[in-house]
Amino acid sequence: MSLHSRVADRVRYFPDSAIRVMSELASQHGAVNLAQGFPDFSAPEELKQAAVQAIRADWNQYANTAGSPRLRQALADKARWFNGMDVDPDLHITVTCGATEAMFATILALINPGDQVIVLQPFYENYAPDTLIAGAQPVYVSLHAPHFTFDPDELRAAFASGARAIIINNPNNPTGRVFTRAELQTIADLCLEYDAFAITDEIYEHLVYVDRPHTSLATLPGMAERTVTISGLSKTYSVTGWRLGYTLAAPDLTRAIRNAHDLITVGTAAPLQEAATIALNFPRAYYAQLGADYVRRRAILVTALRGAGLACDDPEGAYYVMADFSALGFEDDWQFARYLTEQIGVACVPGSSFYAPASLGKHFVRFCFCKKEETLRAASERLAQLNR
Ligand code: GLN
Repeated sequence: MSLHSRVADRVRYFPDSAIRVMSELASQHGAVNLAQGFPDFSAPEELKQAAVQAIRADWNQYANTAGSPRLRQALADKARWFNGMDVDPDLHITVTCGATEAMFATILALINPGDQVIVLQPFYENYAPDTLIAGAQPVYVSLHAPHFTFDPDELRAAFASGARAIIINNPNNPTGRVFTRAELQTIADLCLEYDAFAITDEIYEHLVYVDRPHTSLATLPGMAERTVTISGLSKTYSVTGWRLGYTLAAPDLTRAIRNAHDLITVGTAAPLQEAATIALNFPRAYYAQLGADYVRRRAILVTALRGAGLACDDPEGAYYVMADFSALGFEDDWQFARYLTEQIGVACVPGSSFYAPASLGKHFVRFCFCKKEETLRAASERLAQLNR
């Protein structure tokens, strides 16, 4: 057997995760890691205590495959007050190992080999491989720089070519866009006109910094039946390592998603699911504080980036900045990202990893700001050396 045939075709062409490559480079060089989006500050104390208690209380065996009934009830309550969605915990919710598994299970459950799936780009790095593993074909539609808006005619052309679904991420990783209601309505109208599913990753739903509330695509008229809403606890409660995600979907879709989820992972960590119900019942003030903290972190990073000669919008949501470094005279994003990590001491993610073809992203790099203010200040001091 030749070396090449020892691994399957479906994985052979997947690039290494650029986020992980840059995180490793950051630790090799002692750089401030603004590449991988995970908080370097603590999760809420009550939540940590609840996890300890759940283990002591012997929540040690398999969780209910659909998700802990208590957690699903808490998620249904949250879907009502926050998202404005009418959700039955037994019929509409599946708890998964992070939004990552939620997306994978959803695609396996809904998409046939040979189908086309519209992916807005720049895209979070898993969406295209997920689609390819399902044997489907991603069809890319660009969010055009500098403000990362889509052209409705380009989107219509992609639907007209026969797409079965569209994947959107709102608020958006990596651009920080929060789609306007009008943009969401355009997407919804096309889904209805072309009888397509919408798979909407709303994991950053509580991180919105503009003066318009988060709108779940599923709440637009006619969309509830054809939308799978994905979210999770990782970003809202700063527990990316707990791997708690979920899907909200119509009962027939939920049955299929649960079957895929059962095969992939059986269920996610039982004690962490029990603990998570505490977080979902935090007072509303928690979310206001979370947003205010992120607005300050965003300001530190954006100011430093502009000071160093990079161009970017203020991200409207999520915790990333997609910055254009063209003015700095580097050849491409990988060269710049390596230089920044190795020589300046700040790691970011090359923009090309969020695009197909990759060349579309070669003037961009992504930074995250889910870090302590002192971490962001340390990064700012280092970034200031870029201009010297
Ligand atoms: N969502 C995070 C990011 O975009 C982490 C993803 C990952 O580790 N692959 O950086």
